[in-house]
Amino acid sequence: MGVANKRSIAWAVAQKLSEAGAQVMLTYQDERLGENVTALAEGLENGSSCQCDLTSQEDIDRAFAEVDNKFGGLDILVHSVAFALREDLEGGFLDTKQEGFTVAHNVSVYTLVSAARAAKPLMEKRNGGSIMAMTYHGSERVIPNYNVMGVAKASLEASIRYLAADLGESNIRVNGISPGPISTLAARAIGGFTQMLQHVREKAPLRRNTDPEEVGDTALFLASDLSRGITGEIIYVDGGYHIMGM
Ligand code: NAD
Repeated sequence: MGVANKRSIAWAVAQKLSEAGAQVMLTYQDERLGENVTALAEGLENGSSCQCDLTSQEDIDRAFAEVDNKFGGLDILVHSVAFALREDLEGGFLDTKQEGFTVAHNVSVYTLVSAARAAKPLMEKRNGGSIMAMTYHGSERVIPNYNVMGVAKASLEASIRYLAADLGESNIRVNGISPGPISTLAARAIGGFTQMLQHVREKAPLRRNTDPEEVGDTALFLASDLSRGITGEIIYVDGGYHIMGM
């Protein structure tokens, strides 16, 4: 969930999962993205796509019913979805209005809860599953201009832990991946994003920016049995940037 175009982190993940033999269904937010995402899905072996605005319960019910009909259950769910009003991604957090706060949390956090709830019975049919969501270091440290998204990512990471606790008895694992900045449609809405990329290149132990393929490989690990003992965890894929104090 969350492919908008070829630059989307979800697309890098979808390719890795598909190469490893998964049957992948991409969901897209609205018809504006439909043509592009459907074309991308057709490029995957056994790829398919369907529309699902994750803020609509009706869309979720329809999309998960389609998945169930097509595959007879679900093994892996990747949540790679976030949104905040552009005006809230520059200036000070202090100026965030109630509407912007609510929209950011509704789209970027609650959608994981509702998707996980819809996935549960489908994953139980398969005796378990792996759910993962994309988060960012702005949840733990103040990143200029990230503002309400940082607060929403903190809520997302807490939601990952609560969901992991609820779903563990069904052998469903829930984890987060925290990539360093990557130039995508959503990221370019953040004020000063180019400077963020440069700062990470200079300061991260690995001295480079995060490659979406690295995120895809970590997603493949979390989707596979190699990570069967890991749940409720946030794994950083940021060249080590988050360990630095200065
Ligand atoms: P992107 O713009 O390619 O993807 C964001 C996706 O969210 C889009 O496909 C959009 O359609 C989808 N979306 C928004 N509202 C939706 C809704 N109501 N229903 C369904 N889908 C909806 O950007 P991206 O950078 O690939 O973002 C994916 C995830 O990765 C986000 O959670 C983002 O916060 C996270 N992330 C990104 C970076 C980065 O630097 N790019 C770093 C860390 C985490």
